[in-house]
Amino acid sequence: MAEIRDTVILGSGCAGLTAALYTARAGMKPLVLEGHEPGGQLSITTLVENFPGWPEGIQGPELIENMKKQAARFGATYQHAVVSRVEVDAHPIRLHTSIGEIHTRTLIVASGASARWLGLPSEQALIGHGVSSCATCDGFFFRDKEIAVVGGGDSAMEEAIFLSRFASKVTLLHRRDAFRASKIMLERAMAHPKIEFRSNTVVEEVLGVDEKEVKGLRLRDVRTGERDVLNVSGMFLGIGHEPNTKMLTGEIDLDDEGYIKTTNHVFTTRNGVVVPGVFACGDVQDRRYRQAITAAGSGCMAALEVEKYLEERGR
Ligand code: NAP
Repeated sequence: MAEIRDTVILGSGCAGLTAALYTARAGMKPLVLEGHEPGGQLSITTLVENFPGWPEGIQGPELIENMKKQAARFGATYQHAVVSRVEVDAHPIRLHTSIGEIHTRTLIVASGASARWLGLPSEQALIGHGVSSCATCDGFFFRDKEIAVVGGGDSAMEEAIFLSRFASKVTLLHRRDAFRASKIMLERAMAHPKIEFRSNTVVEEVLGVDEKEVKGLRLRDVRTGERDVLNVSGMFLGIGHEPNTKMLTGEIDLDDEGYIKTTNHVFTTRNGVVVPGVFACGDVQDRRYRQAITAAGSGCMAALEVEKYLEERGR
């Protein structure tokens, strides 16, 4: 019989590590499972200037490393494991993972959401060097520069409008000429004097891989096949996020885009009824704020609920 843990935390981003800190300090010896993207989205950003307590800012990977050490000091442990399935109604809760079955009384799901990327090798090589999926994190670095935003939904419009505060010009690139964005957001972006639209256009290559900074974008018009180069210093992706919830399909309630539905902030449900002992925090259940500090806040809430849940059951 496998050991039964008090709590397992699925995900090692800002939400998961905050939950680890709180549950560790409460003596629960949390096991944190780090999946495909250890450290979450912060580990692929550069300077974080909006996390309170760091007046000069802090590099995303360093912030994550600090959080890991802080929770480890109180007894949190970490293991690399990819979870393929969770049985939430088993007692104890059962996790099927790449390192075998794990049994736990409580589970905190903090598996995050991954930004969608175009998938170009040049784009991947320049993430953090002019390519970003987070306008609020990185927009500040493009003061008086020309940049591009890719996408045709509300995220892209919101990013373009936000980035126009810093950039001298924003070119919005969309692969079609019909937009998913809401009318109000689209009209606002279209009316903005600093934002220029180019529809029916795809990015074929991000230039500047050798120089390690974005030097421009090679574009193609999908109707005419014509190619040209757009001179920009940055490219922001606004093509959506995907919550990491595949292993929970059919186990707890997800919304139509796969985000975990929560009630009272961090309680998960199944067919509308609260699932005992299973909590969710961070971007996997938050499509609205998606900030490091809000993820940390909800990680704290999930940990406190775990503590209460175990206490009520005499542990
Ligand atoms: P979305 O509505 O799914 O739009 C994604 C956009 O990216 C689409 O225009 C899509 O193009 C494009 N795209 C996807 N993959 C692409 C690829 N590989 N190459 C090029 N373009 C690609 O996603 P979202 O904008 O993140 O919005 C998600 C949800 O959050 C929506 O319900 C939205 O209303 C909401 N949201 C609301 C606000 C707000 O109200 N302030 C802000 C942000 C998000 P196609 O159209 O061709 O598929």
